[in-house]
Amino acid sequence: MEEFYDSRVETMPLKELKELQLKRLKKIVRHAYKNNRFYHERFKKSGVRPEDIKTMDDLKKLPFLTKHDLREYYPFGLICIEIDEIVEIHASSGTTGKPVVGAYTKNDLEVWAEVMARSLWANGLRKGDVLQNAYGYGLFTGAHGFEKGAQKIGAMVIPISSGNTKRQITLMKDLGSTALACTPSYSLYMAEVAEEMGFDPREDFNLRIGLFGAEAWSDEMRKTIEERWGIVAHEHYGLTEIIGPGVVSECKEKKLHINADHFLPEIIDPETGETLEPGEEGELVFTTLTKEAFPAIRFRTRDLAVYYEDGCECGRTLPIQSRIKGRSDDMMKIKGVIVFPSQIESALLKVPGISENYQLVKEKRESITSLSVEVEATEERYQEGNLDELEKRIEEEIYTILNLRIPVKILPPKTIPRSTGKAKRVIER
Ligand SMILES: [Zn+2]
Repeated sequence: MEEFYDSRVETMPLKELKELQLKRLKKIVRHAYKNNRFYHERFKKSGVRPEDIKTMDDLKKLPFLTKHDLREYYPFGLICIEIDEIVEIHASSGTTGKPVVGAYTKNDLEVWAEVMARSLWANGLRKGDVLQNAYGYGLFTGAHGFEKGAQKIGAMVIPISSGNTKRQITLMKDLGSTALACTPSYSLYMAEVAEEMGFDPREDFNLRIGLFGAEAWSDEMRKTIEERWGIVAHEHYGLTEIIGPGVVSECKEKKLHINADHFLPEIIDPETGETLEPGEEGELVFTTLTKEAFPAIRFRTRDLAVYYEDGCECGRTLPIQSRIKGRSDDMMKIKGVIVFPSQIESALLKVPGISENYQLVKEKRESITSLSVEVEATEERYQEGNLDELEKRIEEEIYTILNLRIPVKILPPKTIPRSTGKAKRVIER
């Protein structure tokens, strides 16, 4: 089986990749400076002109682009082409304020299909596969990115969208879906419904690959999903501001290779904005190197990760980013300790007798924020009783990871609301 979708790019020597990145960077900076007023003024204010970008190190001279900027120039203030060149738009959910609008030219859509095809190919998707696309269709980028990439490979796409879970299961069975794309939490809800319908998720379906993203999930959650469905679960990562999904390709070593010929990564210190070295943890920053309609130059993602250039057993030379430790937006400070929901998730899933359905409850009294965990026990464990012991066991596991006492409450099975999209893990009371 052919390993790479585009071996020329995916195994390009790092030095050659960096030359290509620099050439493209110069071009995109010229494009933005010449064709967009916001970028023009921002660069001028920072005292940088396109001709000042001579080496990769000069990237630091360019100002950052933030989510706030995108909201301020909503909807089309960052467009670098004539409006009638736009052939498709998408938008993010905009939970806090206005959505972020992504615009695409014909060329941009080709780049998107290309990077998604690369990504899905790395996951093992081929012509002959049947992709059940259970991301929500609509303005979000997710479902559309998967569809474009899968069809470019020649796989069959079922554009079923999210929700109506019983119908999902029936079609998965009848159409012989071999790959499932959705949020990780929804895949577990689907397994639950499949069991209620009398199926064995491991035995009764043709499913072999899971393509999951749009949600922070731990390695333990990945194992749970793989065991439950009997599949290989792959991570996807992307942002509306950059292109949508397709920013990385996860190989069979489960390393996230950045499609760095199109998306130039940097890691910065989120406090100072200083550039960090490979191997250090910080905030991911991306510059789109080829996007025409809406180039993002030094966009601060608010996602924390580590960047590597070490190469990989799979043979790809494209640089690697670690899985996202958390969005800096999800970060909580409890009794002076920094806590990410995914850290608690990995502690929970180490304890037998509980399900993967949990929620973190934040309570604010005056200026003090306290946190507690509610998690469902499995049917059998719940019947056994003696739940105090289980609660203590989980509290210990959390303490090992965070060095913090967080109270845990065991709930009866199937009492926490399920989601067909992004799970709501943190609630406030
Ligand atoms: Zn690899």
